[in-house]
Amino acid sequence: MSLKKVRVRFAPSPTGPLHMGGVRTALFNYLFAKQHGGDFILRIEDTDSARHVPGAERYIIDSIHWCGMKFNEGVGVGGPHVPYRQSERKAIYLKYAKQLVASGNAYYAFDTPEALNKLRAEYEAKKETFIYSYSIRNKMDTSLNMSDELLKERLAKDKWVVRFKMPENEVVSINDIIRDVVTVNTNTLDDKVLFKSVDMLPTYHLANIVDDKLMEITHVIRGEEWLPSLPLHVLLYRAFGWEETMPRFAHLSLLLKPDGKGKLSKRDGDRLGFPVFPLEWKSPTGEISRGYREDGYFPEAFVNLLALLGWNSGTEQELFTMDELIKLFSLERVIKSGARFNPDKAKWFNQQYMKQKPNKGLALLYQPILKEKGIEKSDKYVAAVCGLIKERATFISDFWDLSSYFFVAPATYDEKVVKEFWKEDTSIWMLKIAEIIKSIEPFDKEKAEHETHEWIKSNELSMGQVMNAFRLCVVGASMGPSMFEIAALLGKDEVVSRIEKAVEILK
Ligand code: GLU
Repeated sequence: MSLKKVRVRFAPSPTGPLHMGGVRTALFNYLFAKQHGGDFILRIEDTDSARHVPGAERYIIDSIHWCGMKFNEGVGVGGPHVPYRQSERKAIYLKYAKQLVASGNAYYAFDTPEALNKLRAEYEAKKETFIYSYSIRNKMDTSLNMSDELLKERLAKDKWVVRFKMPENEVVSINDIIRDVVTVNTNTLDDKVLFKSVDMLPTYHLANIVDDKLMEITHVIRGEEWLPSLPLHVLLYRAFGWEETMPRFAHLSLLLKPDGKGKLSKRDGDRLGFPVFPLEWKSPTGEISRGYREDGYFPEAFVNLLALLGWNSGTEQELFTMDELIKLFSLERVIKSGARFNPDKAKWFNQQYMKQKPNKGLALLYQPILKEKGIEKSDKYVAAVCGLIKERATFISDFWDLSSYFFVAPATYDEKVVKEFWKEDTSIWMLKIAEIIKSIEPFDKEKAEHETHEWIKSNELSMGQVMNAFRLCVVGASMGPSMFEIAALLGKDEVVSRIEKAVEILK
């Protein structure tokens, strides 16, 4: 291990909202950086102006912040390598493209799109694949095939690109932390475009290598979709003479659809009924895609579920705080195969965090829903209600259905329950319970429970019959926590009046 300070970057292209797989990439970078006391950097890779989507950069930053991660350097933060937006680093890259041409590792190409399309069509007609590489580069319109004088002339008047001169028949072996050794023969690779005169901008490959070098990145942790580019990247480091300080690589496997068949795509969320984006996204054309935040997930639950998509601690433990993840995470324990996303398990994580949440905090989240319904109750009361129902809830949006009877008396009574539990004598029993409750002064739930149960037993009545009917009077249905917990919160008078009303209606 080198003693260099660990520096990792999250390098999204602002081409749309961040997919949850992208958030996982950011998270693994963050955990790795924090574990090693290193830096977590945000670089925006926006050299492809045609694919730029307004609002995407803001969305990416907001998503990362919502998850509780913070950048040490980068867009929106600053740092020793400003600017961190590649479009603002435009002036930097040409020099490096020229350096590669000068060292014989790259060349200028003037082929027009029309000429390339024509050639491609010819290959297709012959049922062959067209690769722009060593096999044809000498026949193309490039600086390899013209005098210096002509080259100068052409550079001044024509559009050009710089292409990497991919070596012929060389075996490149690269060590990936997750995948071990990746070996490729360069004959399968093409002469990638590195720089374009049309916009005087580098392509992803050149900008990525130059910036990782200049920003002193030590580890590149990114999605598997970049694995095919890895040989080119390593060859670029070599061509620049930077192989000694080249970062180490770790390519994360894909997130798979719930059925395990294929990559979890941006479209799957709406199709399969769960979010694939951290936050709700409104596209520039007004289309809305749902987000984990708006669906009611806690950021801690979202982070926890993402961490376990492709990584495990080697134990049975499933719930981890961010601090625990920082301590335990390791790239060596990230799996090579795809990680199947399970939306039910995602909900399970939220439930677990719901149970752990302090009632006071939940009350603050519930209050706006209550206010909307015109209900004014103290935070203390609402917190007590939250404490009684949170075990049964997945999201805050479940709260009302689970607890409306704490705020309004039932207007109707579940018919099935009435049929099952409301018998001839039930009204008399209920009025007796009302009497017992009235008699306990001050009200005490243990005492109320004890006396009610004693009365039921001494009269040889069925506990289930009586208690279910009692619940029906107060709740209107057969759900909820202990009746005496409910009674303690509602207060004696309210319970008695609900019993009297139910008896009036159901007798
Ligand atoms: N801009 C690339 C992306 O959007 C980054 C790839 C990398 O991390 O090298 O995924």
